[in-house]
Amino acid sequence: MGNDKYKFGTLAIHAGQAPDPKYGAINVPIYQTSTYVQKSPGQFFENYDYSRVNNPTREALEKNIAALEGGRRGLAFSSGLSAIAAIFQQLKAGDHIVLCDDVYGGTYRLLNMFFKKFGLEFTVVDMTEPENVKKAIRDNTKLVFLETPTNPLLKIIDIRRISEVTRERGVLVAVDNTFATPYLQRPLEFGADIVAHSTTKYLAGHSDLVGGMLVVNDDKLAEGLHLAQYAIGAVPGVMDCYLTLRSTKTLHLRMDRHCRNAEAVANFLAEHPKVEKVLYPGLESHPQHSLAKEQMSNYGGMVSFYIKGTLADARRFLERTRIFSLAESLGGVESLVEHPAIMTHASVPEDQRNALGISDTLIRLSVGVEDSEDLISDLKEALE
Ligand SMILES: *Cc1c(COP(=O)(O)O)cnc(C)c1O
Repeated sequence: MGNDKYKFGTLAIHAGQAPDPKYGAINVPIYQTSTYVQKSPGQFFENYDYSRVNNPTREALEKNIAALEGGRRGLAFSSGLSAIAAIFQQLKAGDHIVLCDDVYGGTYRLLNMFFKKFGLEFTVVDMTEPENVKKAIRDNTKLVFLETPTNPLLKIIDIRRISEVTRERGVLVAVDNTFATPYLQRPLEFGADIVAHSTTKYLAGHSDLVGGMLVVNDDKLAEGLHLAQYAIGAVPGVMDCYLTLRSTKTLHLRMDRHCRNAEAVANFLAEHPKVEKVLYPGLESHPQHSLAKEQMSNYGGMVSFYIKGTLADARRFLERTRIFSLAESLGGVESLVEHPAIMTHASVPEDQRNALGISDTLIRLSVGVEDSEDLISDLKEALE
């Protein structure tokens, strides 16, 4: 199903998922198989020989998410981090990466604990100022890696400006689009080369699996990433591929509700006397509200805020919510709350956390798709 002809909701349901030609099943069959019979040695059915390399259910998912991102090739992985690792695996010892400062803790750990010892160098910069990226690029820089909105501070980075700065220097731009999803933001349209996802979050959307995805337009890049996918083998199981496909069918519906609820929660918190400050790109008070408005079609389901007081006040609040469950992760239908400094961002060095503003009183909400009145009452009671 062509990308140009159909709109998002139609692609979400149909892209990569033509009815099964053999029996007419409306859903993509779950090809629970490791291997495929060959007609004669080396003569495969279509291009299937072994499921680490190719699987029809996985391919359907790859086509589906590629279409949603407006890209040509999708590559599915067993987790968001294994997808991101496959990007770093395209580089070699001595190459240099420019990384955004407020990056997912696991991405930082992956570079700092693993790729660094294989000779990859990296510099962390605040990319809300694109000039900083330009200044950080060296002769051996091969990749700029960023997230927007960032996690957990929800800063917005200008993908188009960064892509312009890097294109002059032949440097690839990879964007982790987990927070926004392709429904709200399509980085390839702004000039990025690679889009990465933790499908664990909004794309699968029901907190029941771990998965990752990369989407690219360039065939050579796709080949390199496919090699990392099958040579290293961090591929998802087919049941998880099927569940993710089932979920992307409702991505547009869920995201509309996530955004609406998050906006209501952000407005409520902004007025509350026990709240110091709310971080939500949809608020006019957000320093990059106008950039968010340009780059995204809505502002997403994540809201962060600073509670007044100390760690003890944050802890008390975190222990008292009833609908918001205290857990890492995000993007599911159910609302979650967490403490970045102790939980998701514990692997970021303390001085760097403090410099960024990931303090003891920072709280991150993943606003689900429940009724917003109930969510607001829950927060109100926990704050009292
Ligand atoms: C969760 C997350 C990841 C890592 O994905 P996993 O599926 O947990 O491996 C990467 N980036 C962002 C922004 C995330 O939220």
